[in-house]
Amino acid sequence: MKIDLTFLIGNDGFKTPFDFEITQKEKDLRINANALGKVTNVLGSLQLDMRVSADLSAVCARCLGEAVEKIEFDIKEKVEDDENLKGSLLDIGNIALQNIYLNMPLRFLCRSDCKGLCSECGMDLNKGQCKCNDEAIDERLSILKKLLD
Ligand SMILES: [Zn+2]
Ligand SMILES: [Zn+2]
Repeated sequence: MKIDLTFLIGNDGFKTPFDFEITQKEKDLRINANALGKVTNVLGSLQLDMRVSADLSAVCARCLGEAVEKIEFDIKEKVEDDENLKGSLLDIGNIALQNIYLNMPLRFLCRSDCKGLCSECGMDLNKGQCKCNDEAIDERLSILKKLLD
């Protein structure tokens, strides 16, 4: 996912458009993203403008089911001489991915009110109430009360 900026350098006002699909799989996280934008030579400095749309699929932090999130954001930055620029090759895919990680939720939930799994029997409480007694909850509450006293 690299673009060659050779053509842009030294040509004020020129643009290099791009439209990339990015897929990445890492442990339980799947990313399918699109990076659409351009690099423009503005009075000799290179300006990156892109819109990133990403479909993220991960494991729900509460019930371990599938949690899907969609994020979309814009990046506007000067092309700097950093790890993403090697010679005249700009690694758009890596810039997009780094920003996806920054904009990603800290934890995924299959839905905001996911009830999670019962800590006793492991049943998915989104699918119904289990038979575990309420004593366990009372016990936890009394521990909490003690801590508060
Ligand atoms: Zn869940
Ligand atoms: Zn239970």
